[in-house]
Amino acid sequence: MIILALDALDLDQVKKFNCKNLMQKEYGQTDLSNFNQERTIVLWASFLTGKNMEKEIPLKTQWEFQVPIEQTFLKFFKTHEVIDLPAFSYKQKNHAEERKLLKAYFEDKATVEEYDEVIWKNHRENKKEFLNAVGKFDVVIGYFNLADAIGHLSFGITEKMAEVYRELDEVAGKVKDLDSFVLVISDHGMKAVGRYGDHSRNGFYSLNKELVLDFPKITSFYDLIRKVIENEYA
Ligand SMILES: [Zn+2]
Repeated sequence: MIILALDALDLDQVKKFNCKNLMQKEYGQTDLSNFNQERTIVLWASFLTGKNMEKEIPLKTQWEFQVPIEQTFLKFFKTHEVIDLPAFSYKQKNHAEERKLLKAYFEDKATVEEYDEVIWKNHRENKKEFLNAVGKFDVVIGYFNLADAIGHLSFGITEKMAEVYRELDEVAGKVKDLDSFVLVISDHGMKAVGRYGDHSRNGFYSLNKELVLDFPKITSFYDLIRKVIENEYA
Protein backbone atom coordinates (compact mmCIF):
# COMPACT_ATOMS: atom_id res chain seq x y z
CA MET A 1 0.00 0.00 0.00
CA ILE A 2 1.13 3.52 -0.76
CA ILE A 3 -0.29 6.51 1.09
CA LEU A 4 0.49 9.99 -0.09
CA ALA A 5 -0.30 12.30 2.83
CA LEU A 6 -0.54 15.82 1.43
CA ASP A 7 -1.08 18.58 3.94
CA ALA A 8 -3.79 21.07 2.96
CA LEU A 9 -4.33 19.52 -0.46
CA ASP A 10 -7.60 21.11 -1.49
CA LEU A 11 -10.21 19.52 -3.75
CA ASP A 12 -11.01 22.76 -5.59
CA GLN A 13 -7.33 23.46 -6.27
CA VAL A 14 -6.74 19.91 -7.52
CA LYS A 15 -9.55 20.47 -10.02
CA LYS A 16 -8.49 24.03 -10.86
CA PHE A 17 -4.93 22.98 -11.72
CA ASN A 18 -6.18 19.80 -13.43
CA CYS A 19 -3.94 17.44 -11.44
CA LYS A 20 -4.64 14.25 -13.38
CA ASN A 21 -2.46 11.97 -11.23
CA LEU A 22 -3.95 13.20 -7.95
CA MET A 23 -7.45 12.62 -9.32
CA GLN A 24 -7.36 8.83 -9.41
CA LYS A 25 -10.28 6.49 -10.26
CA GLU A 26 -12.22 7.81 -7.28
CA TYR A 27 -11.69 11.15 -5.58
CA GLY A 28 -13.62 13.69 -3.58
CA GLN A 29 -13.98 15.62 -0.36
CA THR A 30 -13.53 14.26 3.16
CA ASP A 31 -16.02 15.01 5.93
CA LEU A 32 -14.44 16.95 8.81
CA SER A 33 -17.75 17.94 10.44
CA ASN A 34 -16.89 16.03 13.66
CA PHE A 35 -14.00 18.38 14.36
CA ASN A 36 -14.26 21.83 15.93
CA GLN A 37 -11.07 23.05 14.25
CA GLU A 38 -8.93 21.95 11.30
CA ARG A 39 -5.72 21.31 13.25
CA THR A 40 -3.06 19.51 11.24
CA ILE A 41 -1.71 17.30 14.02
CA VAL A 42 -5.18 16.38 15.30
CA LEU A 43 -6.37 15.38 11.85
CA TRP A 44 -3.34 13.21 11.03
CA ALA A 45 -3.49 11.55 14.47
CA SER A 46 -7.21 10.90 13.87
CA PHE A 47 -6.49 9.47 10.42
CA LEU A 48 -3.91 7.08 11.93
CA THR A 49 -6.07 5.92 14.85
CA GLY A 50 -9.57 6.05 13.37
CA LYS A 51 -10.66 8.14 16.36
CA ASN A 52 -11.28 11.83 16.89
CA MET A 53 -8.14 12.92 18.77
CA GLU A 54 -9.12 16.57 19.20
CA LYS A 55 -9.54 16.46 23.00
CA GLU A 56 -6.42 14.38 23.58
CA ILE A 57 -3.99 16.78 21.91
CA PRO A 58 -3.37 20.00 23.86
CA LEU A 59 -2.81 23.05 21.68
CA LYS A 60 0.26 24.23 23.55
CA THR A 61 2.40 21.13 23.08
CA GLN A 62 0.63 19.75 20.00
CA TRP A 63 3.65 19.36 17.73
CA GLU A 64 5.36 17.04 20.22
CA PHE A 65 2.35 14.72 20.34
CA GLN A 66 3.13 11.14 19.31
CA VAL A 67 0.61 8.38 18.83
CA PRO A 68 1.82 4.87 19.80
CA ILE A 69 1.94 2.41 16.91
CA GLU A 70 -0.50 0.01 18.66
CA GLN A 71 -3.18 2.67 18.30
CA THR A 72 -2.61 3.12 14.56
CA PHE A 73 -3.51 1.12 11.45
CA LEU A 74 0.21 0.53 10.97
CA LYS A 75 -0.09 -2.46 13.30
CA PHE A 76 -2.01 -4.30 10.54
CA PHE A 77 1.10 -4.33 8.34
CA LYS A 78 4.19 -6.49 8.69
CA THR A 79 6.54 -3.70 7.60
CA HIS A 80 6.09 0.04 7.26
CA GLU A 81 7.98 3.21 6.44
CA VAL A 82 6.39 6.50 7.47
CA ILE A 83 8.17 9.63 6.33
CA ASP A 84 7.65 12.82 8.34
CA LEU A 85 4.01 12.22 9.32
CA PRO A 86 2.76 14.55 12.11
CA ALA A 87 1.96 12.67 15.36
CA PHE A 88 4.15 9.75 14.27
CA SER A 89 7.48 10.45 12.58
CA TYR A 90 7.36 14.22 12.27
CA LYS A 91 10.77 15.74 11.57
CA GLN A 92 10.85 18.18 14.47
CA LYS A 93 14.07 19.92 13.41
CA ASN A 94 12.99 20.61 9.82
CA HIS A 95 9.62 21.98 10.87
CA ALA A 96 11.05 24.04 13.72
CA GLU A 97 13.21 25.79 11.13
CA GLU A 98 10.12 26.43 8.97
CA ARG A 99 8.15 27.86 11.90
CA LYS A 100 11.09 30.05 12.90
CA LEU A 101 11.20 31.58 9.40
CA LEU A 102 7.43 32.01 9.33
CA LYS A 103 7.64 33.98 12.58
CA ALA A 104 10.61 35.98 11.24
CA TYR A 105 8.61 36.84 8.11
CA PHE A 106 5.85 38.44 10.19
CA GLU A 107 8.50 40.34 12.14
CA ASP A 108 10.07 41.62 8.88
CA LYS A 109 13.24 39.67 9.62
CA ALA A 110 12.97 37.19 6.76
CA THR A 111 11.58 37.32 3.22
CA VAL A 112 8.94 35.03 1.80
CA GLU A 113 11.61 33.73 -0.60
CA GLU A 114 13.85 32.67 2.29
CA TYR A 115 10.90 30.89 3.85
CA ASP A 116 9.90 29.20 0.57
CA GLU A 117 13.46 28.01 0.00
CA VAL A 118 13.50 26.02 3.26
CA ILE A 119 10.05 24.56 2.56
CA TRP A 120 11.18 23.35 -0.88
CA LYS A 121 14.46 22.00 0.54
CA ASN A 122 12.56 19.93 3.13
CA HIS A 123 10.11 18.82 0.44
CA ARG A 124 12.91 17.52 -1.78
CA GLU A 125 14.38 15.61 1.17
CA ASN A 126 11.04 13.87 1.83
CA LYS A 127 10.50 13.19 -1.87
CA LYS A 128 13.84 11.42 -2.15
CA GLU A 129 13.18 9.29 0.95
CA PHE A 130 9.64 8.48 -0.18
CA LEU A 131 10.52 7.41 -3.73
CA ASN A 132 13.39 5.37 -2.35
CA ALA A 133 11.12 3.53 0.14
CA VAL A 134 8.26 2.69 -2.23
CA GLY A 135 8.16 -1.02 -3.02
CA LYS A 136 10.40 -1.99 -0.11
CA PHE A 137 7.72 -2.06 2.65
CA ASP A 138 4.13 -3.34 2.97
CA VAL A 139 3.02 0.24 3.47
CA VAL A 140 4.86 3.45 2.71
CA ILE A 141 3.44 6.77 3.88
CA GLY A 142 5.02 9.90 2.46
CA TYR A 143 4.02 13.20 4.07
CA PHE A 144 4.47 16.48 2.20
CA ASN A 145 3.52 19.87 3.64
CA LEU A 146 4.28 21.86 0.48
CA ALA A 147 0.69 22.97 -0.25
CA ASP A 148 0.14 23.98 3.38
CA ALA A 149 3.46 25.71 4.03
CA ILE A 150 3.69 27.61 0.73
CA GLY A 151 -0.08 28.24 0.85
CA HIS A 152 0.00 29.94 4.25
CA LEU A 153 2.03 32.84 2.84
CA SER A 154 1.13 32.65 -0.86
CA PHE A 155 -2.25 31.00 -1.40
CA GLY A 156 -3.48 34.07 -3.28
CA ILE A 157 -0.60 33.92 -5.78
CA THR A 158 -1.85 31.59 -8.50
CA GLU A 159 1.51 30.98 -10.22
CA LYS A 160 3.11 29.82 -7.01
CA MET A 161 0.26 27.50 -6.12
CA ALA A 162 0.24 26.14 -9.68
CA GLU A 163 3.89 25.19 -9.23
CA VAL A 164 3.12 23.50 -5.90
CA TYR A 165 0.22 21.48 -7.35
CA ARG A 166 2.28 20.56 -10.44
CA GLU A 167 4.99 19.20 -8.16
CA LEU A 168 2.59 17.20 -5.96
CA ASP A 169 0.86 15.84 -9.06
CA GLU A 170 4.26 14.73 -10.36
CA VAL A 171 5.01 12.87 -7.10
CA ALA A 172 1.62 11.13 -7.37
CA GLY A 173 2.39 10.27 -11.01
CA LYS A 174 5.61 8.52 -10.02
CA VAL A 175 3.88 6.12 -7.60
CA LYS A 176 0.32 5.72 -8.84
CA ASP A 177 0.97 2.50 -10.79
CA LEU A 178 3.40 0.95 -8.31
CA ASP A 179 0.91 -0.66 -5.92
CA SER A 180 -2.54 -2.27 -6.01
CA PHE A 181 -3.76 0.24 -3.43
CA VAL A 182 -2.77 3.90 -3.56
CA LEU A 183 -4.47 6.43 -1.30
CA VAL A 184 -3.91 10.17 -1.59
CA ILE A 185 -5.25 12.02 1.42
CA SER A 186 -5.14 15.50 2.93
CA ASP A 187 -5.90 16.63 6.46
CA HIS A 188 -7.89 19.74 5.45
CA GLY A 189 -8.18 22.13 2.52
CA MET A 190 -7.25 25.77 2.21
CA LYS A 191 -9.01 29.08 1.61
CA ALA A 192 -7.63 32.47 0.62
CA VAL A 193 -7.24 35.30 3.12
CA GLY A 194 -5.87 38.07 0.90
CA ARG A 195 -2.51 36.79 -0.35
CA TYR A 196 -2.35 34.39 2.59
CA GLY A 197 -4.09 31.08 3.14
CA ASP A 198 -5.91 29.49 6.04
CA HIS A 199 -7.17 25.97 6.73
CA SER A 200 -10.62 25.06 5.39
CA ARG A 201 -12.96 22.06 5.63
CA ASN A 202 -12.30 21.17 1.99
CA GLY A 203 -10.17 18.05 2.59
CA PHE A 204 -9.34 15.64 -0.22
CA TYR A 205 -9.05 11.90 -0.82
CA SER A 206 -8.30 9.85 -3.89
CA LEU A 207 -8.08 6.09 -4.54
CA ASN A 208 -6.83 4.02 -7.47
CA LYS A 209 -9.94 1.83 -7.00
CA GLU A 210 -13.60 2.64 -7.14
CA LEU A 211 -15.08 2.10 -3.67
CA VAL A 212 -17.83 4.77 -3.82
CA LEU A 213 -16.96 6.14 -0.38
CA ASP A 214 -19.16 9.25 -0.74
CA PHE A 215 -17.90 12.05 1.58
CA PRO A 216 -15.92 9.75 3.93
CA LYS A 217 -14.89 10.85 7.39
CA ILE A 218 -11.12 11.14 7.79
CA THR A 219 -11.42 8.62 10.67
CA SER A 220 -13.12 6.04 8.41
CA PHE A 221 -9.91 5.15 6.54
CA TYR A 222 -8.64 3.16 9.54
CA ASP A 223 -11.29 0.45 9.00
CA LEU A 224 -10.97 0.64 5.24
CA ILE A 225 -7.22 0.01 5.44
CA ARG A 226 -7.75 -2.85 7.91
CA LYS A 227 -10.17 -4.52 5.50
CA VAL A 228 -7.84 -4.10 2.52
CA ILE A 229 -4.98 -5.67 4.49
CA GLU A 230 -7.08 -8.56 5.83
CA ASN A 231 -7.92 -9.46 2.23
CA GLU A 232 -4.33 -9.15 1.10
CA TYR A 233 -2.90 -11.31 3.87
CA ALA A 234 -5.75 -13.86 3.68
ZN1 LIG B 1 -2.45 20.71 7.77
